[in-house]
Amino acid sequence: MLTVQRTVARSLRRAGQAAASRGLATESGPYDAVIIGGGPGGYVAAIKAAQLGLKTACIEKRGSLGGTCLNVGCIPSKAMLNNSHIYHQTQHDLQRRGIDVGDIQLNLPQMLKAKDQSVVGLTKGIETLFKQNKVDYIKGTASFVSPTRISVQLNDGGSAEVEAKNVVIATGSEVTPFPGGGIEIDEQQIVSSTGALELKEVPKKMVVIGGGIIGLEMGSVWSRLGSEVTVVEFLGGIGGQGIDEEVAKQFQKILGKQGIKFKLNTKVLSAEKKDGKVVIKTEAAKDGKTDELEADVVLVAVGRRPYTDGLNLEAVGIEKDNRGRIVIDDAFNTSVKNIKCIGDVTFGPMLAHKAEEEGIAAIEHIHAGHGHVNYGAIPSVVYTHPEVAWVGKTEQELKEAGVKYSVGKFPFAANSRAKTNMDTEGFVKFLSEKETDRILGVHIIGPNAGEMISEGVLAMEYGASSEDVARTTHAHPTLSEAFKEAAMAAYQKPIHF
Ligand SMILES: Cc1cc2nc3c(=O)[nH]c(=O)nc-3n(C[C@H](O)[C@H](O)[C@H](O)COP(=O)(O)OP(=O)(O)OC[C@H]3O[C@@H](n4cnc5c(N)ncnc54)[C@H](O)[C@@H]3O)c2cc1C
Repeated sequence: MLTVQRTVARSLRRAGQAAASRGLATESGPYDAVIIGGGPGGYVAAIKAAQLGLKTACIEKRGSLGGTCLNVGCIPSKAMLNNSHIYHQTQHDLQRRGIDVGDIQLNLPQMLKAKDQSVVGLTKGIETLFKQNKVDYIKGTASFVSPTRISVQLNDGGSAEVEAKNVVIATGSEVTPFPGGGIEIDEQQIVSSTGALELKEVPKKMVVIGGGIIGLEMGSVWSRLGSEVTVVEFLGGIGGQGIDEEVAKQFQKILGKQGIKFKLNTKVLSAEKKDGKVVIKTEAAKDGKTDELEADVVLVAVGRRPYTDGLNLEAVGIEKDNRGRIVIDDAFNTSVKNIKCIGDVTFGPMLAHKAEEEGIAAIEHIHAGHGHVNYGAIPSVVYTHPEVAWVGKTEQELKEAGVKYSVGKFPFAANSRAKTNMDTEGFVKFLSEKETDRILGVHIIGPNAGEMISEGVLAMEYGASSEDVARTTHAHPTLSEAFKEAAMAAYQKPIHF
């Protein structure tokens, strides 16, 4: 049976798509795997499938690969975080290090250009990987006709039908609108994270609604570039889900010293444009007292929600839960045989590396009948300065679960490398099971926390004890010695504190 209608194959050839030149499996039967969505979940799944010998296509409508992460998420935000940190450090930190520089100017258009260049370089890199691995890249919007047939509205016009033995849905997530409506995102003055990565000038005052990871990262960027930033958060602490409370408190103190203001336990009621400004009405959670803030730009960062628009899930009967997440079992199967689902569009933390791991495991299930993701060892990182990173349980979770645990802490102020780098804020905190010393969680606030947490993840993957880490040689002088000493503190005593 033809997997692509001949008229469609012609239209694809006209559109000059790489996939069409290989005939979209027209002569050689259906695809073994069709992946819908080319984000970190989808593109990794596609490459893995092709590497395992499956005839594979990836359908992506955005016009570039890499999904939210590469185009409007992880990558552009980290480009802005890195370069705004360098700018800020040059302004405020170089002199005490014995480096005198002249007149320091922000060239925002160039900073935005550098960000865009890193995005283009990386998204094009995935196209190359697709070619190298012989993944057919179909540029268009996928919609189910049946569990094994998918129609595609091609970006360049025309449509196609693709036949697949197995389908993996990896359509990701979108910005959650402000709950209850009332705040309209125009991506100029009232922006989502996408607009916050594109501001053409530094706003004098910026209000960030939501003190989660994205709000804090983008708030940090604009604060370093000169904005007066106020973060309004409904909860009593910052950092979002999964952060250890002790770390969150320290984090707030440090960001406060950097100039970011916080209004916690505060609900935003509305944000309205008035005389070139935005007026934000708030209400205190405790006593209902209302207040007003004024800003030049408001960032709405209240979360993301699963994205399934236009997939025509109803046609095949794929089940979603009440939060719009596609329901899957532990082998990534949806309610429809032969259709799997991974990444932001289903359960679990909305993180690129989680989506990638699921992409590999889902394909291994298709190929070999088994695959695995350890959801107990997925790290989270906030790429501010200092960075915050964690894996496993928080202290409050252990308390709630009645688990007996030991705490081992070591401050960067006592670490030789942090001291010589003049970058000593924060600490490493180990949580281990009292009886067995098995590591249950690691929390870091400090320089390079995002790199260092991988050691904690690896230790947890191997079921290590804090003594295992403490007895492992760490190079001197490195920041990771603070990691080792925190492990020592959890089962005996650290040496340097
Ligand atoms: C500002 C920001 C910063 C972030 N920073 C980080 C970070 O530092 N680290 C981290 O781990 N995570 C970060 N994230 C989260 C991360 O981007 C997501 O978790 C990740 O992209 C999810 O991957 P995914 O493959 O599930 O979906 P996505 O990356 O959302 O990809 C889904 C793709 O599917 C496509 N698609 C949707 N419907 C269809 C259809 N019908 N047909 C064809 N294509 C379709 C979309 O166009 C999209 O490109 C950040 C997010 C944001 C917004």
